[in-house]
Amino acid sequence: MPNKDTFCVLPFMHLSVFQDGKVKPCCMSNSFFEENYNESINFDTFFKNESYQKLRDDLKNGVKNKMCDVCWKVEEHGGRSFRHEKNAQFKQQYDEFMENENAKSELVFLDIRFSNQCNFKCRMCGERDSTSWYDEREEYWEREVVDPVRERLKQWELDDKVYDYISPFESKKLHILKNDFTKEELSKLEYVYVAGGEPLYAKKVWDFIETIPNPENVTIQFQTNFSILEYKGVSIFEFTKKFKSVVYSISLDGLFETGEFQRTNFKTNVFLDNLKKLNEEVANNPNIRYDFTFTTSILNVFNFFETYDYLINNGFIKDYSNLRFQIVKWPAHLDVKNFNVVKEVKEYYSRTDIKGKYKNPFLKGDIENFITYIEKDGWVENKEHLENLKNYLIFSKDYNNLKLPNNLEKYI
Ligand code: SF4
Repeated sequence: MPNKDTFCVLPFMHLSVFQDGKVKPCCMSNSFFEENYNESINFDTFFKNESYQKLRDDLKNGVKNKMCDVCWKVEEHGGRSFRHEKNAQFKQQYDEFMENENAKSELVFLDIRFSNQCNFKCRMCGERDSTSWYDEREEYWEREVVDPVRERLKQWELDDKVYDYISPFESKKLHILKNDFTKEELSKLEYVYVAGGEPLYAKKVWDFIETIPNPENVTIQFQTNFSILEYKGVSIFEFTKKFKSVVYSISLDGLFETGEFQRTNFKTNVFLDNLKKLNEEVANNPNIRYDFTFTTSILNVFNFFETYDYLINNGFIKDYSNLRFQIVKWPAHLDVKNFNVVKEVKEYYSRTDIKGKYKNPFLKGDIENFITYIEKDGWVENKEHLENLKNYLIFSKDYNNLKLPNNLEKYI
């Protein structure tokens, strides 16, 4: 029987494929496989590749493979890891492998990013995930004396493979996944997570959706900035009517000046208008639902309740039950742990207990993991981070002609 302390069902039924064909065992994993999906003959050949097989063997045999360090670290601190979460979500497949470790591996869950085409350039993002970043990054990068990414990796003592993930693409071009999936390869699919770029306006996404053979068995989840609700003049809701369910996971890191600074090109009025349309759609289509992801950086860490309380107080959402919380770890000058604010963060987030808002166990776990992260992993505040943050804020505000939110003025 596989070792329960390390077994993870994902590498047995899942791929996380990026725009340039690089693949990870899941979106949270620390590194990519050597093999590139664009270079493989087909899915089956790729799924049986040597590195993937090695990871599966390690996870079955109690070996904490480095690719999954992100989970081991959370678990060491007593937290709920992505591995725990996915083993519970795909319990049927998990139980099958527990009973028979040689059960057949099939593609049940696909996480896919077809292109980096995006209309936003969020402060913690880069050209790997957004074409809108090209020009700004080029100018910013030119001003850096050292390669900031490699410097960080040295400090983190991380594998060079991670560099491929967080470093920029080498050329300014739109990156589109080349290798397509056939209907047959998608026949066992139950869950698809589509991210980007911004997936709701990418041709390749809608072509792929047409290819899925049994949509009535499939839940499709879009990670979206929710700024565009039409494709070629047709409402996006029309394209997914046959699916078992559709989930819009909306990235919302703040409203008004905070949201508009952290996610450049985000417009609060457009967003609220789109959310109203989504609520109307949900009322008529029970197969549609949505949730939010709040991505936490030093720019918005003290704006979480203000954001979602505004939505509650203005009748857009009922409560905090459909919320998740993510941590910005790169660039380092946006990572909360580098600014010695543990005490203030703990105090601010203790409101969740007082108001009993958090009937959502996932959100509770996310926030606990965040506090553990900034407490146990944190560097002490140092001049370098403050200096980098100051330069970055000034550069970002001037380059994009943005107003700096009041709460950030103390940093410049
Ligand atoms: S153990 Fe964690 S990092 Fe590794 S594949 Fe599973 S969820 Fe992903």
